[in-house]
Order: sequence, then C-alpha cells, then structure tokens
Amino acid sequence: MNNLFSKKLITILSILILFTFVKISLRSQILQSSDPIPIPTPSTIITNTSSVAVLPKPTSTQTPIPLPTVSSIPKRVTSACVYALVNDETKKLLLRADKEMALPDGYEPEVVKLPLEYILQGWTEQYLIPEVANAAMDLIDAAKKEGHDIVIRSSYRSYQEQEWTFAYWVKELGLEQAKRESAVPGHSEHQLGQAIDLTSESVNWELKEEFGSTPEGIWIDQNLHKFGFALSYPRDKEEITGYIYEPWHLRYVGRACSKEWYESGKTLIEVLKGIHLDY
Ligand SMILES: [Zn+2]
Repeated sequence: MNNLFSKKLITILSILILFTFVKISLRSQILQSSDPIPIPTPSTIITNTSSVAVLPKPTSTQTPIPLPTVSSIPKRVTSACVYALVNDETKKLLLRADKEMALPDGYEPEVVKLPLEYILQGWTEQYLIPEVANAAMDLIDAAKKEGHDIVIRSSYRSYQEQEWTFAYWVKELGLEQAKRESAVPGHSEHQLGQAIDLTSESVNWELKEEFGSTPEGIWIDQNLHKFGFALSYPRDKEEITGYIYEPWHLRYVGRACSKEWYESGKTLIEVLKGIHLDY
C-alpha cells in the first residue's frame, strides 16, 4: 500500500517538474525573440553640455539691447569708402556736392592757410581743411621730386565766394555754359575745403583742358589716388558728372576711398552715390 502511494507521488512530482521546465523554457524563448531595449553605451551618453545654449530668462529690470537703425547701416560693407563712414570725421570727407546734391545749409569747414610756395605766385591766399592741405603739399612735393612744377590756383571757396564765381561765369559764358563749367552755390566741391585746381607753366598757369596732356597733367592723373585725391570730372563723362572734362580739378576723399575709386574705373560721383550718406 505504501509502496503504491510512493510510486504515484513520484509520478505526480515528475509531471509537475516536467511542466515547470517546459513553462520556463517557453518564457525564455519569448524573451529572446523580442527586440532588446537598447542600453546606452558610454560613447552615446552626452557628457559635454557646453554646446547647449542656455538662454537667460528675461527679467523686467533688464534693458533691451538697442537694435541699429536702418540709416546707421551702410548699404554695402565691402567698400573701403563705406568703412571710412564709420568715423564721423572721415564721413565728412565723403559728402556729396554735385548737380543733384547740395551741401548741408551753411556748411563751413575749418580751414588752414596754405604756405605760399604751393600757390600760384602773386595769387590770392588759399585755404583747405588741414588733412587736405597736408595731402596737397605731399602731392606737389612728390611731383616736384620727379621734375614737375605744379601749383594750386584755387582751393576752398565759401558759399558766398561761389556765388560771386558762378555769377562771373554766367556773365562771361551765359547761364547754360556756366552750369557746365561752374557749380551753383551750395553744390561746389570747393566749398568742402577738399578740392584743388592745379596748374603749371605748360598751360600758362591757367585752368585748361590741355593740362591733361602735359607731363604735369599726366603725372597727376597717374598719381593723385596715392595721396587721397580723385579726379571729379574725367574726360567724356559729362553725362554722369554734369561737368566738362577738368583735368585740373582734384577732390580729396582719403586714401582708402581714392584707391577704391581709382581701381573701380568709375567716376567719383558714381562711387559716392553707391555709398550711404545720411545727412
Ligand atoms: Zn575746381
């Protein structure tokens, strides 16, 4: 009886063990077939947080940083002339005084008197703003070193002096021709204190178109930009400049800008129109 009971018990236990084994085996198979959850490896863990921009929270006491206004941004930033505009003093050197654009009302620069040796002998006193006076003397000295005797015949003219000058030319040439050769008051580069009219003995110390073909005129044409000057009214550009060819009339714009003008092959008025002047 006891023996029979033992056998039954063993059989039941065996079945239970077998069932448990099959169950464990099945579960293990299911786990293996499902996609494993990826565990981050050290290389995928982000340890560097410095690249993450942390924006400060705005507080009511913070003053907002003012954005530049449109008028203070130069339209083209690749130009040396435009870079010159950053400085107020340099900006003054680039003011437009042409047929379309007048100088600000009552524009009167501070000028200095030029030493007599740079002026046409027996002529009236001549004035320029200091920076231009230095550049003009350097230009004339450099020309002299290469054997060219050049002097200044005209330089700064006040608004009133320009009135007299223009009235004189109207009387001499008539209004239409006077406008081609002389500026209406307020529109003259001479009022800037940055323009000079040069002459030499080859043109009898006058202001003549032939000056451009003399050795002095050719030297000026090839070297003026190195001293910060530009030729305002080149040959065959009257349609753009509004003035006849004036190989004697130079306007100072600073060396960076004069170099840019020279290399561009454009007229000075085109260069100045291309930059943003707000006045
Ligand atoms: Zn002139």
